[in-house]
Amino acid sequence: MASQEIEALSGALARLPGLGPRSARRAVLWLVKNREQALPALLEALDAVSETLVECSTCGNVDTRDPCGICADAKRDDKSICVVEDVADVWALDRARLFQGRYHVLGGRLSALDGVGPEDLNIADLLERVAGGAVDEVVLAMNATLEGQTTAHYLAERLEPHNVRITQLAHGLPVGGELDYLDEGTLAQALRARLPVG
Ligand SMILES: [Zn+2]
Repeated sequence: MASQEIEALSGALARLPGLGPRSARRAVLWLVKNREQALPALLEALDAVSETLVECSTCGNVDTRDPCGICADAKRDDKSICVVEDVADVWALDRARLFQGRYHVLGGRLSALDGVGPEDLNIADLLERVAGGAVDEVVLAMNATLEGQTTAHYLAERLEPHNVRITQLAHGLPVGGELDYLDEGTLAQALRARLPVG
């Protein structure tokens, strides 16, 4: 039986998505075996991230600086904003540089069931960014779930008075599909074939 400290580390790792108790135990075993090289590097990386992690005050992405790397990148196109539900979606879309514009993270989706209303999401900030006038196109990249689509419809309505093109990802997305789980080819296709809303 392992010590309390080792059990605690296993327990903490087992809570990570994609790891279960078995994989967590295997990871701990590996760390114990390779403690001299692996532990200091891991500790340093975790420490650096935990000290600097911050939510971007412009787009809601999480990065180690504010504005985030994407907002600070002068090479990106200010004219289009891709609206997503979660930070994971920004990372999924940006992994392969599929989209060259800016992003906006809502921080969730409208859900009557979970009591999430428009005021609980980063919608006011989005409207403010669009009202700034530099934006031509807003891409609604919500998940292909009922709540994601409800959110997209609501946003399309709120954006309508502004003079912008509103598009959404093509319906090649599997129903119920969450962006984060899609492969880059499918995402690229959905983004390239994006359609006007309405
Ligand atoms: Zn940002």
